Amino acid sequence: ALVRRVVFITGAVDMTTLPPADRGEAAFIGRSNVGKSSLINMATNRKSLAYTSKTPGKTQQFNFFAVNDKPGREKEVKYGDIVEGERDADSFYLVDLPGFGFAKAPEAQRKAWASFMGEYLANRKTLKVVFHLIDSRHGPIDEDSNIMKQVKENLPKNVAYVIVLTKADKNVKGNSKKNPGKVSEKVMDDLKQAMAESGVSYAPILITSAESKLGRDSMWRYLRLAAES
Ligand code: GDP
Repeated sequence: ALVRRVVFITGAVDMTTLPPADRGEAAFIGRSNVGKSSLINMATNRKSLAYTSKTPGKTQQFNFFAVNDKPGREKEVKYGDIVEGERDADSFYLVDLPGFGFAKAPEAQRKAWASFMGEYLANRKTLKVVFHLIDSRHGPIDEDSNIMKQVKENLPKNVAYVIVLTKADKNVKGNSKKNPGKVSEKVMDDLKQAMAESGVSYAPILITSAESKLGRDSMWRYLRLAAES
């Protein structure tokens, strides 16, 4: 199996509190309620893993989950203090970046968060793929255009950037394995326009559903970039 174990490692609040850059990393960005936890759980075959990120105090952190670590390491990890050989060869980090549910937060706090995000995208050497989640029923909102611009400005060109449309089963009546989900032309048009305006038209678009598991294999094509680095 690609995913044998997953453990929560730490919540980072700035560049100095990130765990050591010692393995590949896959980041997930999207506003709260977009279906981020459900999608991470679907991709890793877990039931409630990513919901850890929702516990009070963790909602505004970059939450790091280690995939395929050796058992017990989560108790030992300290910043900058990793002993070689503690993890499996295909270990990688899943990083759950905060949504925008705290748009009402003080201006200074929002600025600090945006600058952390910019620095992280620009300077995290082990970052291999960024998944940007957008609700397939509504298409991109202003916050999504801001993320696209952040990506365009900061993310190195050799890091994959993937748009993920979520909850596609909700657009189909009586969805099933045979008919697992779809996205309206209007949402697709809006999305392509927002991508063009932000200069990220190169990004692939995946259509997914945590409910029907639509898009799981396509997600793994990109997760592999982190797992196999
Ligand atoms: P997050 O805040 O982005 O982590 O979003 P959650 O994963 O908690 O999902 C928010 C809500 O949407 C929850 O009620 C989920 O059950 C629901 N949801 C998430 N993904 C899907 C999906 O693929 N299909 C359907 N039908 N509902 C979903």
